[in-house]
Amino acid sequence: MAELYDGIGRHIHYLRVSVTDRCNFRCQYCMPPDGVEWLEHDDILRYEELVRIIGSFARLGVDKVRITGGEPLVRKGLLPFLREVANVPGIKEVGLTTNGSLLEEYAPLLKQAGVGRINVSLDTLKPERFIKLTGQDKLTQVLAGIKKAQKVGLTPVKINMVVMKGFNSDEIVDMANLAINNPYQIRFIEYMPFRPGEDYLFTAAEMKQQLVDAGFTKLIPQMGGSCPAEIYTIPDSKGSIGFITPISRHFCSTCNRIRLTPDGYLKPCLLSNDEYFLREQLRSGISDQELLDKIRYVVLNKPKQHYLVKGRKSARGMSRIGG
Ligand code: SAM
Repeated sequence: MAELYDGIGRHIHYLRVSVTDRCNFRCQYCMPPDGVEWLEHDDILRYEELVRIIGSFARLGVDKVRITGGEPLVRKGLLPFLREVANVPGIKEVGLTTNGSLLEEYAPLLKQAGVGRINVSLDTLKPERFIKLTGQDKLTQVLAGIKKAQKVGLTPVKINMVVMKGFNSDEIVDMANLAINNPYQIRFIEYMPFRPGEDYLFTAAEMKQQLVDAGFTKLIPQMGGSCPAEIYTIPDSKGSIGFITPISRHFCSTCNRIRLTPDGYLKPCLLSNDEYFLREQLRSGISDQELLDKIRYVVLNKPKQHYLVKGRKSARGMSRIGG
């Protein structure tokens, strides 16, 4: 079986595909502050183009795909596309990242389409704060969507909270409590400064201290696993909690992924500005062999580590990359 390695020997087997830049939320930190300029319809990769790219990655040894956005569930025709992705030879796992607002309706359909796992973004449990953050009054729907995902077996349901100092950093304990009575994995993510001057970073060390102060004194580290999160089980709890530390302790040396933006750029690193345009070549008759060669080239040139640790800023916001 083929295996794909980058220039410093990391095994790359995970492709994150953003299928749209559109979203039904307006999370302040994710979208540009001066309004969103949507991509033109023609600039977004068509499903058949996405399937071709995913198929090429799979031929090279990629076995895991995560679909993201924007909000992937707002793109029309997503379910048949997911079914095709799940049937690509070599793809063993299809996951999806969502804001959860449409999940109650979609969860059973996603399961039927071959999606195995789901990540739901949820930064607050306070209804007023939720509206302030996302621009939408949809907290109830998101919580119902999470329950449904659990019920239909899109498990383990992972809930991602981006912790922002002074905005939601007082909710870490409430979020962790969700993992006591529910079999969810609650993952606390350090804020990544995509724009100059942002100062929301609340480190994992600060988060852990809050939890210890609130009585979470027996967190048991889970060993193994390939995800970048440090996961802990809590005694007598159904779920677990985790910390993702792109800033205080970056995990570049074990990074196993490549990203594809909705407009057809391969991005070998989320936080570097290196991008390789694929769309025009796809539309002007690139051969299968040339496509494989291009992918190999991009993977070989994956940056050793991300640039934020050196103080550089990203040229794209998350809504245009796919988180
Ligand atoms: N709409 C989907 C969702 O809400 O999960 C998928 C796309 S969204 C861009 C993916 C994730 O990126 C979300 O969990 C969001 O919180 C995260 N994100 C966006 N900007 C971020 C930042 N500056 N730092 C850390 N995470 C960020």
